Order: sequence, then structure tokens, then C-alpha cells
Amino acid sequence: MTEAAVRLVSVTKDFGAVRAVDGVDLSLAGGEFFSLLGPSGSGKTTLLRLVAGFERPTTGRVELSGREVTALPPHRRDVRTVFQDYALFPHMSVEQNVAYALMVRGVRKAERLARAREALATVRLDGFGPRRPAELSGGQRQRVALARALVDRPAVLLLDEPLGALDLSLRRRMQTELKELQRTTGITFLLVTHDQEEALTMSDRVAVVSDGRIEQIGPPVEVYERPATAFVAGFMGTTNLLRGAAARRVVGRPGTFSIRPERIRLADLAEPPAEGERTVTGRVADIVHAGAHTRFTIALPHDDRLTVIRQNLAGLPPSVRPDAEIRLLWDHDDAF
Ligand code: ADP
Ligand code: MG
Repeated sequence: MTEAAVRLVSVTKDFGAVRAVDGVDLSLAGGEFFSLLGPSGSGKTTLLRLVAGFERPTTGRVELSGREVTALPPHRRDVRTVFQDYALFPHMSVEQNVAYALMVRGVRKAERLARAREALATVRLDGFGPRRPAELSGGQRQRVALARALVDRPAVLLLDEPLGALDLSLRRRMQTELKELQRTTGITFLLVTHDQEEALTMSDRVAVVSDGRIEQIGPPVEVYERPATAFVAGFMGTTNLLRGAAARRVVGRPGTFSIRPERIRLADLAEPPAEGERTVTGRVADIVHAGAHTRFTIALPHDDRLTVIRQNLAGLPPSVRPDAEIRLLWDHDDAF
């Protein structure tokens, strides 16, 4: 086992009375694509700034590649950050922007330029070196910011909502490029995002953050399909949350349960549950055709409701119509 590329040990950060980060333990493997996912104000940026060295923890320890860096300033850490607003120097050319960190470190001009061009090629901006940032599109500017962060080959790249300023289709394309860039460079990526789809599709592992604490860490499928807390279940997408009496009625056990809308099968009242399946009956209260999927709202007795999502309507019994009494079935294991 090699040591962790990034490790936080019991890290807390207070800003006056506000506890932005609350006892976080985190360990990233070298070459991992790791995401911090959480709503605005949950402490994601503060966590990144603690790793970068822009903030010092109130208590706890930060390590990079097995070395304690808690008290080291940013320029003594082998880490670069890409911010949402790119923070490019407007009066410098693209090439000068990318080569800037090398200039500060006293790298001679010929080598600076060669490495800046190489970094620009990595992000597919060959030939854009002489331009000014103002002459680039949003996506191109984002790539310049990436090239600038990658030019001196940091061990860890921190990305704070790097695609947040791009429109949706460009964002999806840049997600693929970022993932590809991480694979080809082998650099450890720590991405901050509030977009669950982004975190789920790009990451090897995800940490869900709420109120300065980590609610759950795991591979995307695990976090999505086995949410450890009600917060994670709610934040990771549409789900049916059942608590208290509703849990007892629907799931048959006390506690707080989550059942994913796409895990529930709609069937005829007459269809018996298969082995290991749980079932309730209800009335079809609403059907919404939402582009690629259809969303059913099923009213149960006692004002309980379940949402069911189908990608594909083939195989749906004809009895599933507005106001009809139908049967809902799901695998026993699909209620967490
Ligand atoms: P996120 O990036 O998840 O939106 P932040 O890390 O920016 O969250 O903020 C977490 C909490 O810490 C928020 O309540 C925010 O207001 C507070 N905070 C962050 N930075 C500072 C600061 N420099 N001074 C005071 N409060 C701060
Ligand atoms: Mg932030």
C-alpha cells in the first residue's frame, strides 16, 4: 500500500462562531478521482482551501503523500487549484497565463514556453497560445485554467465547481474531457460540486457533505443505491423516504427507509408478489410524461405517497391508468 495522496485527520475549521468543517477524516488514494458533493454552504470550498493551504485548520492535521503539511503555505504544497471563475490574467496571452507558475519559480524562458505548449496540447488548445483570454469561449477559458494548473505537474489537482459557469451541454462535454485528462495524467483529482450527476458520473469515490460533516463516502453506485442517511438519500436524487408510521405500513418495519422510484414495479392488483418482494396497493394519482421517463405518483392509504419512475413503458399493464387501483412491488433489499 502506498500512502494516501491527501489525508485529513479530524479536521475542524471555525470562522468565528461558524463551524465550516466539523471533524472531517478523509483519505484519497494516488490517482483517484474523488468528489466532494453537497449543497451550497456545506463546507466544500473550505475543505479544498484547507488542502491547498489557503486556510489553516482550527484543529486537526493535513497530510500530502504521507507528509504533514498543516502549517505549510500553498506554494510549498504539491497541489494546484482550478476555480469556477478561472482567474486568468486578462492582460496576458494564453501562453503567458499557462507559463506563469513556471516564471515565478524561475524556470528559463525556452523551457517555460515548451512546457506551456505541452500543457495546452493536453487540453486540446494547440495554437491558442498567442490569444488573450477575452478572445476565447467559456469552455476554452476553462481549459486554459486547467492547463495552467497542470503545467508543473502537481501531485494533486483541486477543482472547485470548475464547470459551474458553463451551459449544460458544454458542461457535459467538459465532464468527459476532465475525466479523460485525469486518466491520462494519473494526477489525483479532488473535485467539488453540488451537481450529483456530475459527481456520480465522473468519480471513483464520492463524499457527501452536509453542515461541515461527511455523511457518507463510497463509490457512486453505493452512495446512490445504499444511502447511509436520510440526507444522502434525499440529496442524491428523487427517492421515496418513509419514516415512522409510514415506514411500518409500507416497508413493514420501523425506521427511516428510502426506496428509489426506479426500483418499484407497477403491476395488476391480481399479481402476487414473487419471493423476496414486498408489496402495497395504491391508487394512481398522477402520471407525468417527462421526456425520457414517466413519473407516477401513487396514493396509498393514510395519505402516504410513493413516486415511481419508468424509463420505458413497454410491459406496463394496461390497468395502470389514472385513478386505477394497482399493485406496487419491490425487492425487499431495495428499501434501505
Ligand atoms: P460550500 O463551498 O459548500 O458552499 P463553504 O466552504 O464556502 O461552503 O462555506 C461553509 C460555511 O463556512 C458557510 O456557512 C460559509 O458562510 C462559511 N464561511 C466560509 N468561508 C468563510 C470566511 N472566510 N469567513 C466566514 N465564514 C466563512
Ligand atoms: Mg463553494
